[in-house]
Amino acid sequence: MLKHLSVSSITSWQQCPRKWRLHYIDQLITPTSANLLFGTAFHATVETYVSGLALDEERGTLLECWENAFNETFDKAEQGSGVAWGNETRQSLFNDGRTLVTTTATARTIAELVPALDVHGRPMVERYFEVMVPGVGVPLIGYVDLILPPRESGGPLRLVDLKTASRNWAAGKADASPQGILYTWAMRQLGMTVEDEFSYYVFNRNKPTAPSQEIARVTPERIAWHLRALREVWTGIRAGVFPPGSDMGWWCTSGMCEHWEACHAVADDPTQ
Ligand code: SF4
Repeated sequence: MLKHLSVSSITSWQQCPRKWRLHYIDQLITPTSANLLFGTAFHATVETYVSGLALDEERGTLLECWENAFNETFDKAEQGSGVAWGNETRQSLFNDGRTLVTTTATARTIAELVPALDVHGRPMVERYFEVMVPGVGVPLIGYVDLILPPRESGGPLRLVDLKTASRNWAAGKADASPQGILYTWAMRQLGMTVEDEFSYYVFNRNKPTAPSQEIARVTPERIAWHLRALREVWTGIRAGVFPPGSDMGWWCTSGMCEHWEACHAVADDPTQ
């Protein structure tokens, strides 16, 4: 029984409804991509470090935060569903992260991402939300990585997402991504006053310089477009038909789709 939708779930369905079904309905357990785990560890590193800055509390250097987060993330995955290493090794990934967090320009940018404190005095990191979307039977959920203080007293808060990537983002990607648009809409639904610019900080593992800041401009038209797309995904799920995606992109290869084998083991059964 589906309990909620997230942006990654929506994107997965848009890429390939069959992949979505194998993951979210059949719940096939597969090893987690090493790149995904790298991103998880990097998020935890930044969030721990900047939370310490917000509270004026010593939580170790960025490198110490990276070592802790990396080991915790990969130990847990190795003991759980396993890791799909691809071309990486544990050491190569650790080294990439170490290079990133010890690069002066990167460290300087991270130190500027000090989150706001909420009414309980807690840093606003990894903020969970759950909101109902008109026309969709389950809530949309997500986590906002960082919520930064207003630029001026009394102004709107600023929403930030951290990304790790192996190349720079293409022009227009931030504006096209559903995450910033839907997260901004969701936080407003919950009564938060936030800017109509959503920032992605993209940390390039292969170019350890300052991360690029990619801005998504949140307009009423874009919100309407993404809410409609979400409703269309929901309609597709309700219909219970999960064909392979019609446009087989980079995600539909044996190296990129964790469900490749299960997908291709499907027999041609005219009753299905
Ligand atoms: S292998 Fe391709 S068609 Fe099959 S589930 Fe994965 S993305 Fe979809």
